Amino acid sequence: MSELNLVTNMFREINDTASGVGNCRQYNREKFIGYMCSYVPVEIIMSAGYVPFRLSGSTRPITKAYAYLPSACCSVVSGALERALQGEFDFLSGLIIPQTCDRMREIFDVFRVTTNITFYHNLIVPMRTDIIPARQFYYDELKMFIAKLAEMSGKEIGTDQINMAIKNYNVLRGLLRKASDARISATLTGLEYHKVLMAAFTTPPEKVISAINNLLQSLSEKRPELEGRVRLLVSGSVIDNLEQIALLENYGALVVSDDLCYGLRGNVGLIPSDSKDPVSVLAQKYLGKINCPCKYPSQIRWQNILENAKASQVDGVVLMLKKFCDCHWIEQPELERRLKAAGYPVLVLGIDNETAIEALRTRMQAFLEMVTKRKSRGFSNDCPKNF
Ligand code: SF4
Ligand code: SF4
Repeated sequence: MSELNLVTNMFREINDTASGVGNCRQYNREKFIGYMCSYVPVEIIMSAGYVPFRLSGSTRPITKAYAYLPSACCSVVSGALERALQGEFDFLSGLIIPQTCDRMREIFDVFRVTTNITFYHNLIVPMRTDIIPARQFYYDELKMFIAKLAEMSGKEIGTDQINMAIKNYNVLRGLLRKASDARISATLTGLEYHKVLMAAFTTPPEKVISAINNLLQSLSEKRPELEGRVRLLVSGSVIDNLEQIALLENYGALVVSDDLCYGLRGNVGLIPSDSKDPVSVLAQKYLGKINCPCKYPSQIRWQNILENAKASQVDGVVLMLKKFCDCHWIEQPELERRLKAAGYPVLVLGIDNETAIEALRTRMQAFLEMVTKRKSRGFSNDCPKNF
């Protein structure tokens, strides 16, 4: 699928350029601001003339980061810090880290004192997201963020600039939603979808939009090799090691839906782009999205997972949870209970970016065999309680 290669090459080129491995001239002219976490409104970064670049971990061993972190730290944070300490993010003009989960809170100062990045901003995101005072608080926070970014960049960040960035991201999010739906109709695999997401979060939107558009237009045909597979929903925080998705699909699954920070949970949907107060609209949309478990309340997320599982006709759910990620693990028993009560077999996996693939293989294979047998017998709710 050459269109997919174009999209994934963009991701590879830009990450290679970023890490100094490659020298892709078309990206050397861009100015990037890094961010961690889907509670950072990328539209604001773009309206200041920068390309938002989402930091991710890597599959390489951690050799430097643990000097500054507790060993009980998730690989989202330790992996990103490791890459920063290796100089891979020196190209960034700034970095935005929000106060979301405990690890994100702790990491801000570590990044600030150990890396060569000169501009930092710590964006405070309220713990409870569904009440009016929280939205007012976040609105004020975004205003402060804009003022600091405008001062650093020397650029005006007004209504027109923000609305223009909202328009651009609406196009990108609309395409990502279509790419997600293509999984449901089995014209795109889960792995392919995640490759598209990785490119979308690190590449200038105007470049990646046309590439994703071309990819989607090339997807008209049914793909017989994807029919009849075990359909799965994967839930967790961030999957930045795509081998973990690939492994599931190599054993006959198709990841057709998700509850992931890079995926559907991070997609805030379309945002009105003609508001006289776009900051207010951004505050509403980012706090109104499906919550990460580090925020309250959680019930809407649980309900959303069940609705997505039903709409995409999944046969089972895999909870791929980062090791040492307190907020996801705290909710895991209740989420698992609700999923099983609704008739879905559930596999719970603790992962990090260094987890040996062999260690996951046996459990994934056994789960998929069980779901396949169950499916072939037409069972709807016979999942062993402690699978
Ligand atoms: S999982 Fe939660 S805290 Fe972690 S990056 Fe995503 S939204 Fe932020
Ligand atoms: S939510 Fe979990 S996985 Fe995400 S950054 Fe926080 S501790 Fe790490």
